Amino acid sequence: MTRIAILLLALHAAASGKDLRIGVFGLFHPSELILRAVPGGALQVDAAGTVWNLEGPQTARLRVGRAGILCTARGRESSAAVVRASGQRGKTEFFLAVPGRIERRFLASLEVRVRDGELVPIVVTDLETAVASAVAAESLPGTPAAALQAQAIAARSFYLASAARHRDFEFCDTSHCQFVREPPANSSAAAAAAASTKGLVLLHAGDVLAALFSASCGGRTRTLAEAGMAPESYPYYAVECPPCRTTAPEWESSLPAKYLASIENRSEAHRIELGRILGWDVIPGYNYRVTRAGGTIMLHGRGAGHGIGLCQRGASAMAASGADHRAILTYYYPNTAIAFRE
Ligand SMILES: [Zn+2]
Ligand SMILES: [Zn+2]
Repeated sequence: MTRIAILLLALHAAASGKDLRIGVFGLFHPSELILRAVPGGALQVDAAGTVWNLEGPQTARLRVGRAGILCTARGRESSAAVVRASGQRGKTEFFLAVPGRIERRFLASLEVRVRDGELVPIVVTDLETAVASAVAAESLPGTPAAALQAQAIAARSFYLASAARHRDFEFCDTSHCQFVREPPANSSAAAAAAASTKGLVLLHAGDVLAALFSASCGGRTRTLAEAGMAPESYPYYAVECPPCRTTAPEWESSLPAKYLASIENRSEAHRIELGRILGWDVIPGYNYRVTRAGGTIMLHGRGAGHGIGLCQRGASAMAASGADHRAILTYYYPNTAIAFRE
């Protein structure tokens, strides 16, 4: 190989950046998946050496079998512990569906495993595609550009700095990690926010910060300690968020008085535990006051989410009044710096 060819390969590797393994559709506990190429595209599916080339409307059907995954396509069937799919030259666009439930388009290569009797689809996607997808999934329509850019930098930092959070993959596609849906169109505001901040991350004490963010703090953000979370080198700071205090929708809910201790504790762990028991809409955020009537507790609150780090509602309001992404990030993540990282 010539030196120029080696150099070009090295440049290509640098440009392609880090890959992320994102587990998708876990909420649906799939026992069956349908895979197909996008119109005009092609998809290569590999089940333990049995390879299918799917084009047009051809599909591959994956089911949980006795010995791993049963893959059926074009009249042939094969069984494998892991089924992989990609384009001729690696990542490509394809559709993945849980029949009758959901179908999404991804730009990735795909790996499907079995765990506890369920199929586990894992999309292997490059960091910037994941960042654009997370910005699109995490933000409301009409969010100003500077707020989307701040979100993109927070999302990128979270992906780069977090250790793997799951067993078979690094991140999931729910709020447990970050919402991810389809990659947005290149012409979208979310894609523009990711592209215009490409490589930018939040640093704290020289390390990339696994930046937390939430929908609406309700008026004031919280430190990790206030949320009852384990201390980390970055403690997070409580900052005032006037837009949330006046514009975040108010909510009210009631729950049995036996949960009073958990309610007064206001830790994120308690909020999640009660969400699992009582439903996620019972305690949408932590910023509430408590009243009691007999055997019932009433909560009167504002805001949604854990309230740590960037407040999306506050960031939108700051951007609408002219703040750029640097001002937004500096405000919600005091004592951090923005830097460029591959
Ligand atoms: Zn997760
Ligand atoms: Zn806020």
